[in-house]
Amino acid sequence: DLLVVGSANADLVIGVERRPGAGETVLGSDLAVHPGGKGANQAVAAARLGARTALLARVGDDAHGGLLLDSQRSAGVDTAGVLVGGAPTGVALITVDPSGDNSIVVSPGANGRLTPADVRAAAGLVRASRVVSAQLEIPLESVVEAVRALAEGSRFVLNPSPPRPLPDEVLAACDPLIVNEHEAKVILGDTAAGGTPDDWARALLARGPRSVVVTLGAEGALVASARGTARIAAVRVDAVDTTGAGDAFTAALAWRLGTGAPLAEAAAYAAQVGAVAVTRRGAQASFPTAAEVDAL
Ligand code: ADP
Repeated sequence: DLLVVGSANADLVIGVERRPGAGETVLGSDLAVHPGGKGANQAVAAARLGARTALLARVGDDAHGGLLLDSQRSAGVDTAGVLVGGAPTGVALITVDPSGDNSIVVSPGANGRLTPADVRAAAGLVRASRVVSAQLEIPLESVVEAVRALAEGSRFVLNPSPPRPLPDEVLAACDPLIVNEHEAKVILGDTAAGGTPDDWARALLARGPRSVVVTLGAEGALVASARGTARIAAVRVDAVDTTGAGDAFTAALAWRLGTGAPLAEAAAYAAQVGAVAVTRRGAQASFPTAAEVDAL
């Protein structure tokens, strides 16, 4: 069983011809509202693949919170661990210009109020989960608390996004730490300069995680552990929208690890899931079922 500890956001998207400057107003397209946030995305991605999945998160007592709970439930996620209230639901205000470039303002809202005490109160849920997957769109202290609540023998997977330096206690628990190029560079700091993905994977491993996965977009991924480094080939597809690919990859990897798959095998499956996700628009809307992955 998989527990995702993380964020839930409403993504509010408006297409614009160009971005407004200070003091200026521009007209845009109709508003689109999508469920998002890395935690919510990962939980939906895993549940859609068939994983027994629960989400530990916080949303506001508002319409966006309702949208997020509905989207989790319709994907089959257990939402008993989703706390409601304390602040408005987290929101990402997104403008997209004709070239497809995004400008995003995030209001963490309720995500910032998922406290260590909340995680302690849900320690039973954490302890009962074979795999616990987290990201950094909630307070870092709450992620630390989740690590402390892990049962002996259960597995902790972290995608440190948005990236920031991590305490040793968290690094040591990661199996694996999953980073893209940007996240690898932020966590490694100056030592990443000039290196290759192979170098980053080894340098990250030296910081304490039991294993590391570096995702490389259309180039696939690298897995590294004490047993060595292996390249995971990407599946060749026509990418139309890479939003959510990393979340789909992480969710699929966490689920396969929970079923006992070795890291390289789980990552190869996750690469297939990520590949399907980039062939479709949106985040949660792009996540495949296991049958759709098998059909690839
Ligand atoms: P993030 O979204 O976190 O930056 P990546 O872009 O590295 O993560 O994507 C995660 C994974 O999804 C990759 O490791 C790869 O397996 C798959 N993927 C992403 N983009 C593509 C693509 N254009 N073609 C095929 N697979 C892709």
